[in-house]
Amino acid sequence: MDAGPGTFGNLQRFTDPLALSGIVLTHEHHDHFSDVEGFITAARWVYEFQRDPVPVYAAPGVREHLTQDIDGILDWHEVGDGDGVRIGDLEVRFHRTQHPPVTLATRLVGPSGALGYSADSGPEWSLSSLGPGLDLALCEATYTSDHKGPPIHMSGTEAGSNARLAGARRLVITHRWPTADAREVLAEATEAFGGAVEQAAVGRGYSL
Ligand SMILES: [Zn+2]
Repeated sequence: MDAGPGTFGNLQRFTDPLALSGIVLTHEHHDHFSDVEGFITAARWVYEFQRDPVPVYAAPGVREHLTQDIDGILDWHEVGDGDGVRIGDLEVRFHRTQHPPVTLATRLVGPSGALGYSADSGPEWSLSSLGPGLDLALCEATYTSDHKGPPIHMSGTEAGSNARLAGARRLVITHRWPTADAREVLAEATEAFGGAVEQAAVGRGYSL
């Protein structure tokens, strides 16, 4: 789910990329889809790609950015607010957030629980729109509260209060800008959530 810079390299460390049941791309900003290009290249030229095309469920606008032919590699589906799809044993439902352009948060429900992923959003959007009973909220916390830029992302405080109001059992924050202080963002989120919060990191896993 989402494929920003570095994700395809890391994906190959943890699983067989040709075994993917599906790819979800939440919006057309490059930090959320750019490594699909690497996947296409590797599938066509590096790996022996002898399987059905990998289903892709993407927000409007993403496909237009791709520079390569996807025939035989990807089976592209454009999705929108309120749509639902099944990927393997996961039910995935999409919800439009406040972030421009069209950006789709996701609720994934599987045999062992429910995950809510904010994608990118703004302070007016609520994780509650993903429905109750989130066992884990994976929420962007891009900067600290004193950020003075446009409100198209959440601060640590906003991510924490958002997850608390949504009744999420656990909160993992992600999408921190490299110029934001990791400890400050985490401290904000922890205080606002009212419980332990974890910062997502490469190679760190979470079981539901
Ligand atoms: Zn974005």
